[in-house]
Amino acid sequence: MRQYTTAKSQNPDALLFFRMGDFYELFFEDAQVASRELQITLTARDRERSVPMCGVPYHAAEAYISRLLRKGYRIAICEQMEDPKLTKKIVRREVVRVLTPGTSLDPGIGSEQNNFLAVLHLSPADVADRICAFALLDISTGDFRTAEFRGPNAAAQCVEEILKAQPSELLLPNSHALPAQAETLRGLERIRTHTKVEDWVFTADYAIPLLQRQLGAHSLEGFGLEGHAHAAVAAGALLHYVRSTQQLEPGHIDSIRFYERSQYLQLDQVTVRNLELVDTLFNDASEQTTLFHTMDCCLTPMGKRMLRSALVRPLIDADALNRRYEAVAEAHAGLIEREELRRALTGILDLERLLARLSLDSAGPRDVLAMGSSLRRLPGVRAALGAFRASPWATCLNRLDALEDLRRQIETTLVLEPPVTLAEGGLIAAGVDEELDSLRTISQSGRQSIAAIEERERERTGIHSLKVRFNSVFGYYIEITRSNLAAVPADYERKQTLVNAERFTTPELKDYETRILTAHERCIDIEKRLFAALRAIVLEAAGRIRKASAVLAEVDLLANFAHLAALRNYVRPVLDDRPMLEIAGGRHPVVESRMEDLGEGRFVANDLYLDASLPAPEQPPAGPSLLLVTGPNMGGKSTYLRQAALLVILAQVGCYVPATSMRFGIVDRIYTRIGASDNVARGRSTFMVEMTETATILNTGTARSLILLDEMGRGTATFDGLSLAWATLEFLHAKIGARTLFATHYHELTLLAEQLPRLKNIHVSVKETPQGIVFLHSIEPGPANKSYGIEVARLAGLPNSVLQRARQVLRQHERAERHNVAVETEAPLQLTIFTPLSQTVLDRLGAADTNSMTPLQALNLLEELKNEIRDAQPGKDGAA
Ligand code: ATP
Repeated sequence: MRQYTTAKSQNPDALLFFRMGDFYELFFEDAQVASRELQITLTARDRERSVPMCGVPYHAAEAYISRLLRKGYRIAICEQMEDPKLTKKIVRREVVRVLTPGTSLDPGIGSEQNNFLAVLHLSPADVADRICAFALLDISTGDFRTAEFRGPNAAAQCVEEILKAQPSELLLPNSHALPAQAETLRGLERIRTHTKVEDWVFTADYAIPLLQRQLGAHSLEGFGLEGHAHAAVAAGALLHYVRSTQQLEPGHIDSIRFYERSQYLQLDQVTVRNLELVDTLFNDASEQTTLFHTMDCCLTPMGKRMLRSALVRPLIDADALNRRYEAVAEAHAGLIEREELRRALTGILDLERLLARLSLDSAGPRDVLAMGSSLRRLPGVRAALGAFRASPWATCLNRLDALEDLRRQIETTLVLEPPVTLAEGGLIAAGVDEELDSLRTISQSGRQSIAAIEERERERTGIHSLKVRFNSVFGYYIEITRSNLAAVPADYERKQTLVNAERFTTPELKDYETRILTAHERCIDIEKRLFAALRAIVLEAAGRIRKASAVLAEVDLLANFAHLAALRNYVRPVLDDRPMLEIAGGRHPVVESRMEDLGEGRFVANDLYLDASLPAPEQPPAGPSLLLVTGPNMGGKSTYLRQAALLVILAQVGCYVPATSMRFGIVDRIYTRIGASDNVARGRSTFMVEMTETATILNTGTARSLILLDEMGRGTATFDGLSLAWATLEFLHAKIGARTLFATHYHELTLLAEQLPRLKNIHVSVKETPQGIVFLHSIEPGPANKSYGIEVARLAGLPNSVLQRARQVLRQHERAERHNVAVETEAPLQLTIFTPLSQTVLDRLGAADTNSMTPLQALNLLEELKNEIRDAQPGKDGAA
């Protein structure tokens, strides 16, 4: 227990797995937590039951540990450092490794997913030129990135980027617990595990040299980090943490990517979630509704991860996009070549994760063999790439190292079917090591000799049932059944007595036993040494393997795009310099493929036209920059909005799109305000979230952005909501001028088309039949005339009495609105808010010459107009 308390005091915030023989035991509070989380029995170590304890067998510990890590716990592994056989005292124990959610190599993590560890490095909030940086590392793949931001929004941008990567653990300097940072760090509480790191780690003097040593570089210039000390410090601090938790050097981490947000189409966390790019909005929904899932026919884990990260970080560089389209076009056209390439990619395993496992010493012989067999496929990939000319293919071919030397080394060193672990030996092929071969011959011949001894002893004793056998406790023995004991020769030495038999040994057998067993032990030692050497050779080539993995990811991604284009009839988008978006026959990729999978009919294709170019002087505006979409519930408004954003995202990752044609100007940022997502846990109501998101759009949107607003203003009283929506539309039209889609049920807003030249009304159509409404899902020009909310409620199964009453109330409201009268119900007086002022009032106002009026005349006019309006009020003396 003294050892235990020491180890625990060094790792107070981790669950301590304390090795005792064949078990890892947990004590005190740790035991209570583990027994609750893992549903294992809680016992006690002492009779008074004052020391709660629970344990897991060491050979099954991995599964338990993974479960705890996924729940966000940190775990310290305390091992026995001596062989209990060799010491008479209590064996020495030490914490050899701390496992944390962000540094785990959990094999349960999906191959398409990353497991990121994040670190945030903020300069003090009161510094005018604020610089903030973050770094992300997936230790299981070696994916290491960092970025840095300046200015008042720097911290928020860091937070946004971190959240987009969905890390499982976040490192923060100790001092960042300050309440002053709380608002800036909003959102980070979603990351389950927060770990504090001492402040001194975040100093340039310590962190930067550490990063340089890890990358094996004298300067960080080659990684784009020159002049970005904050980013380099963040990355160094992250490495410090990894090194302090891992037993071994993470040798596979040999490069880092510094990126600027302005290199990508900006998608904030809200938009990534709302558009369900990589995760579903609702946890219980099946994964199949994400864009990633729909677009993923990649054949390698590296390709899958690249697709996932590309979808949240689309490009904005026209040349890069055109190059990708060119590559996709070529592979799209060449069916045979494309299939050849995809066949070559099939069966390539996760080289990055195999490398990481090997580097952190958790890989066995089968992992290395798996790497070898994946490398075997590389020459085929190279050959298939040779069929293409487009520049991305040519670049990939140029950069793809087939690593044949390494493959040969692996294949000649290991047997074809090695065991899972090193413990029993038998993994190194014949011909690799002379000593090993000769020892194996001894142990082989030993076995043959045993058979010969058995034969000879049978003859000598005349006992036909005599057996020579081996077990791990007694070694080799001769077994004679009880009935034959009389025939046992005098030189037999008794070893063990069983119910029906006796076991003996002879000097000859003893001699063989020693020779065979020592040969076997020696073989295992040699095999371990040879495996370690092989591991070192593979790690030596880590940089080459990682480079090949990156090339394979890109090849897989582009081949995937070409495959989807052919399979689903997608077309090549065309780039335009103007901020426009023209889609003919567009389809929502996810809804379309879901409908196909489920056999639910055909998706109705729709057109879209937006042009946010500024008109030339004296020229009428080019096209609508703002589309106001009305139509019935369930008509397809949201689908139409999201479809526009998804097509832009696909086009900007270089993929073909589901449409008959698409022309567009590159979008710098996509904003969405979609649906109701309240965040009570974060202290914000539904409406507050909605308004915060709208505020961000209005404050930061640009003329090059794409803005989607779905049912804005719905979370509050009708008039407040309508007024906010109205004012927002005017602001978007006048001040931002971005390509905007605005879906609403406030039909009053459609009147705005008369005032705002660049706003156009469109609606989703519906057919009324005697049996009810039929949704046509097609987009038509002009505003919709009603919402059919009650019809949709009927389809949803609301009780008939509620529907009837709703129809009655609706009729009363509609009549009141038409005739400008009070609703004839017990409900309080309701007015439509946009009741036009009486024409005479307007005419008189228009005619008044305010320049020549005296103040008194003006006041009198005001009084008269006021009386006139009051007299015209409905309800007053029953007048209409
Ligand atoms: P609400 O106003 O109630 O939010 P909405 O008008 O936004 O409704 P959506 O949610 O977009 O309607 O669509 C309703 C359903 O109609 C979707 O589940 C989708 O499956 C289907 N749908 C939408 N558009 C199409 C289309 N173009 N072709 C086929 N089905 C469609």
